[in-house]
Amino acid sequence: MYVLVANLGSTSFKYRLFDMSNEQQLARGGIDRIGEDADSNCAVEIGGQKIENQQRIPDHAAAVQMCLDQLTDSNTGCLQSVEDVRAIGFKAVFAGKLSGIRVVDATLLDTMEALADVAPAHNPPYARAMRQLQKAFPQIPLVAALETAFHETIPVEYRTYSVPYEWVEKYEIRRWGFHGASHRFIGTRMAQLMQNDSAKVISCHLGGSSSLCGMIGGVSQSTSMGMTPQSGVPQNNRVGDFDPFALRLLKRLSGKDYDTLLDELSSKSGLLGMSGVSNDARDIEEAAAGGNQQAQLALKVYAADIKKYIGQLLATLNGADAIVFTGGIGENSQVVRELALSNLDYAGIVLDKEKNQSVKGEATLHADSSKVQIWTVPTNEEIVVARQTVEALSKKG
Ligand code: ADP
Repeated sequence: MYVLVANLGSTSFKYRLFDMSNEQQLARGGIDRIGEDADSNCAVEIGGQKIENQQRIPDHAAAVQMCLDQLTDSNTGCLQSVEDVRAIGFKAVFAGKLSGIRVVDATLLDTMEALADVAPAHNPPYARAMRQLQKAFPQIPLVAALETAFHETIPVEYRTYSVPYEWVEKYEIRRWGFHGASHRFIGTRMAQLMQNDSAKVISCHLGGSSSLCGMIGGVSQSTSMGMTPQSGVPQNNRVGDFDPFALRLLKRLSGKDYDTLLDELSSKSGLLGMSGVSNDARDIEEAAAGGNQQAQLALKVYAADIKKYIGQLLATLNGADAIVFTGGIGENSQVVRELALSNLDYAGIVLDKEKNQSVKGEATLHADSSKVQIWTVPTNEEIVVARQTVEALSKKG
């Protein structure tokens, strides 16, 4: 059974094609800088052969189309036709109560669109891409693995906001948590790597979107994102935690209405807003190294917030066995890792700065004196979603 997994990041689209009879990956590809004022790199690797081209990709719908074109290319593709794909699994973000793993239907799409307020950068491109695919390839089931499902285990004291209780009951205003597939993968993988099924792990997924999650034995206990993916640590262009009462003052001082201000918080804030340079950590690091003070500030604030959540999760879990960095920034940015883990020796967390500069892939980067292990582990959200897609199809019969 061939399953295609589509992972729509806020500025990226990654996909993998699996043969689920043996979980073998047949192809993988990625398109970055979607919607940015620059060419996207559209890359696919099929059977060891890499094909790349550069072009402007205006939105996620165009990215999905590019993926299908690459996989069915008569010279370099690995599929005869799009119909060879038994199902397409999506790492979908938010559909409120409709959590878990679901075959995509009209109710789910309508709900995702109706709840676009919660995930304005994610729900609309997902719903748009799903509708486009449903229309173009009606015979291929689409399966959504909702990001929030992994966090259903979070105890009530870590998921409840101190708001009028009616809001919780009637409107489901609560900390939902996101990045479920990535944190689930890290929990499962760390149990294998540490040979410990009850390990306390702090997973730092740092990418276009970033969140931290504390797990015991691979089960989510608390996470940095709350009601929406705009919360927690700063995101690429989204704000992270923010005091809602600043909005009333901002409205009066700037003359902007609430919708405009919320749009600015969800598209002109985060690393982009602070740095004034870019929403891409590579550009910000380059500018910071060249002396740009706003870029330096953006990195400092981002790393300080990561450290703050590590502290919160250490308290929640009563210590940790391992801290894991994953995602584009987590796996690659030595600067962010070093800033975020500085001065944590009192908690038994000591980074080996030399290892930090050279790590690649699955590796440890803690000093011998560190009580807590520190790892980089490339996440594999796609295999989690592919397994869940097969599970959903088998339930459907
Ligand atoms: P998404 O959440 O959109 O899937 P990724 O996990 O791919 O995103 O992460 C994208 C982020 O990773 C971008 O900000 C990018 O700049 C950053 N990144 C990728 N490679 C590096 C690198 N070598 N150094 C620093 N940051 C990097």
